[in-house]
Amino acid sequence: MSIVRNAGHKVFFIDNYLRPTDFIESGFMKQKDIDIVAIHANTICFRDTLRMAHSLEKLRERGEWRGKIIVGGPHASVAPETIPEFVDHVVQGEGEKVILDVITGEERERVVRKESLKELDHLPFQPWDIFNGLPYDYTCPWMDVQPVFTMNTSRGCPFDCNFCSVCSIWGRRYTSFSALRIVEEIEYLVREYGARGIYFREDNFTLDGKRVSDFCSKLRKKNIDISWACETRVDTLTDEGLVEEMSRSGCGAVYLGVESGSQRILDMLNKKITIEQIEKAVCLATKYNIRAYCSLITGVPGETYEDFLLTKKLIDDLKPYSYSFGVFVGIPNSPLYRHILENNLYEHKDDIGLLYLPGYDVRAEYFYGRDSKNFVDYDFKERTDFDKKLLIELQKKKMMQKIDDMAASRLLSLFARGIKKIARLAF
Ligand code: SF4
Repeated sequence: MSIVRNAGHKVFFIDNYLRPTDFIESGFMKQKDIDIVAIHANTICFRDTLRMAHSLEKLRERGEWRGKIIVGGPHASVAPETIPEFVDHVVQGEGEKVILDVITGEERERVVRKESLKELDHLPFQPWDIFNGLPYDYTCPWMDVQPVFTMNTSRGCPFDCNFCSVCSIWGRRYTSFSALRIVEEIEYLVREYGARGIYFREDNFTLDGKRVSDFCSKLRKKNIDISWACETRVDTLTDEGLVEEMSRSGCGAVYLGVESGSQRILDMLNKKITIEQIEKAVCLATKYNIRAYCSLITGVPGETYEDFLLTKKLIDDLKPYSYSFGVFVGIPNSPLYRHILENNLYEHKDDIGLLYLPGYDVRAEYFYGRDSKNFVDYDFKERTDFDKKLLIELQKKKMMQKIDDMAASRLLSLFARGIKKIARLAF
């Protein structure tokens, strides 16, 4: 957005999740003289992208609008074939290099992908004035300060975890803002918007230890009083000196891609980390008062109940600040997705290509406490041994809950009887 605005174009930003609008049907397009609508598409939200694109196309068919439709974002890279033909441009990977050419019409290809940017420092700051005017939640559950601003300072990943589509979006080369560039943007956020915290929402903030160390020392030298948190891999957090330095410069939390407590599953996922590295990263973070949040994955093909018990044990032993399980769903264009598809290991494929494995409903109930119908409109029938064991645990849990409820209502009725007795005596 900043690039487009800096080139002299007028930009309107609409977040329909934050504040639902009917801007397409309400005459907004005509009123504001909109020439181009660029939609950021994620796979999980792709149905909404489709709805929006079709509404725009209907406007064009009725002769009420003559602009261009552009779709970018991760879904444009992982599943471009699902984007309707009437969409004028599908922008893959990084959009900054091509967006102006697409807008001015110099770029004529429909599916556009340019070589990745070699360095990011020259990119303008995010249009914080636009975001700051919107009612986003400027807090972070792992940080005690607010407002917390979200930044993204790196792209690409040299790893090859087989459940992940990041490489098809950003590529394998890791590119990042320099420490100085990050600190400059933070100084701006502190000065203009009173930022108290920064959450680095990206895949591997600490991949380049030298950059992190440089960033920490710059924060300290400039006396910038800010708390920060980042997302990263455990194998980049095993250097005690670095973790200590991060802590001293305001790092209060790390979100770690732990995935599993079973080495067999970590290897199967091609995660290229060990249980020892997980232990070391979480222990070091805890030692230096950095809250460790472990992100776990369950329901991958071949995972057994015993693997799950290993994960549970690891978490019980390490006692991180927090953790959560994500139930596996196959997202297009990852190696594991292709493996599941080719070997017919899924039970359901939805209309946007997401793959659901047998027992997804059991796991949704067990790990999220929610009916799977909240996520996918399908009745699951197949069960693995793992699901059967989770089902037994769920039944036990429900039985215990019933007993608790009965005991509570029995206590309540005894209590009510006592009160009535006292009331009778008093009046
Ligand atoms: S899960 Fe993380 S480390 Fe693995 S490939 Fe994806 S981004 Fe890279």
